[in-house]
Amino acid sequence: MSVPYPPPPSYPALSYELFPPRSTSAEVGLWKTIRALEDTRPDFVSVTYGASGSNRDTAVGLLERLLDETTLKPLAHLTCVGNSLAYLSELVDELISRGVRGILALRGDQPQDRSLPEGDLQFASELVELIRRVERSRTAHLCAGKVAVGVAAYTTRHPESPSFEHDIEVLLAKQAAGADFAITQVFFAPTHYSRLLRTARRAGVDIPIIPGVIPFTSVRRLERLSELAGIDIDTQLRERLMNAGNDAQRRRIGIQATVDLAHAALDDGAPGIHIYTFNEHAAALDVLDRLDLSRPPAPGLSQSA
Ligand code: FAD
Repeated sequence: MSVPYPPPPSYPALSYELFPPRSTSAEVGLWKTIRALEDTRPDFVSVTYGASGSNRDTAVGLLERLLDETTLKPLAHLTCVGNSLAYLSELVDELISRGVRGILALRGDQPQDRSLPEGDLQFASELVELIRRVERSRTAHLCAGKVAVGVAAYTTRHPESPSFEHDIEVLLAKQAAGADFAITQVFFAPTHYSRLLRTARRAGVDIPIIPGVIPFTSVRRLERLSELAGIDIDTQLRERLMNAGNDAQRRRIGIQATVDLAHAALDDGAPGIHIYTFNEHAAALDVLDRLDLSRPPAPGLSQSA
């Protein structure tokens, strides 16, 4: 008798990206954001990691506070560029010891002056393998829940990659190394996500690929992001934002464009939505409000109604 394939979840996954605060005042603001986002009961929140490792303590401190003081489940970003195997193994071990059960394995980037030392690992897929090795050494401690390992995916060619097809091969290699899921780099066109999903599935990638979206509320941020991530900005959107009569109108246009993008990705089969918050909750909540995602009932309330 064949076992019936499990039905898809009745609601999409919801998650947010946060970055470790750079000052005491930024920390106060971040905690307001965290509390506001916590009310929406996301499935996880991700915490970025500076590729130079300079924010290691702030990142680990934030992960610890999220675990100790909130109901949120943190996903720790980790980069391997410029780091030794010993350093990374010890950090993965520390994250597991502190209760982290999700790690996003990334390569990171050399700064422009290429000042980071030559690391032991060249690609993110090798970091995935390393995390799995450390995890295996801790199996007895992880009987109540192993580590979910995520990776980055790109809807358009990664700036260093020869082609989009090469990126799909890289994603397949990350899956083979043990990745459980992927989150995409920001993107502007709905067709880019659907093309990634279609091409990846055809190539044998079957892990969930969660689209990462940003609230399109600031032209400057869009420009900076497209520069950093090496993606072409949506010029029509930029024009509409620039031509808006006032800030409120600009915000409405930007939020609606983000919601349209997220809806299109969900219609294409996205398993959830990951919102890059830039540590600000207002725009993320506006997006969520208009997205009108179905969410699971709050724990403890489902039986009593
Ligand atoms: P890789 O998968 O290693 O790919 C890097 C390049 O190498 C690509 O061009 C790829 O095509 C090529 N490549 C990979 N494997 C092979 C192979 N076997 N043979 C030949 N070529 C190969 N950066 C941070 O510093 N901190 C963060 O917290 C952070 N968070 C991120 C979160 C998300 C969701 C995303 C999408 C990106 C994030 N980044 C972060 C940025 C990321 O580090 C950069 O995009 C980086 O340039 C590539 O990282 P990667 O993990 O995709 O690397």
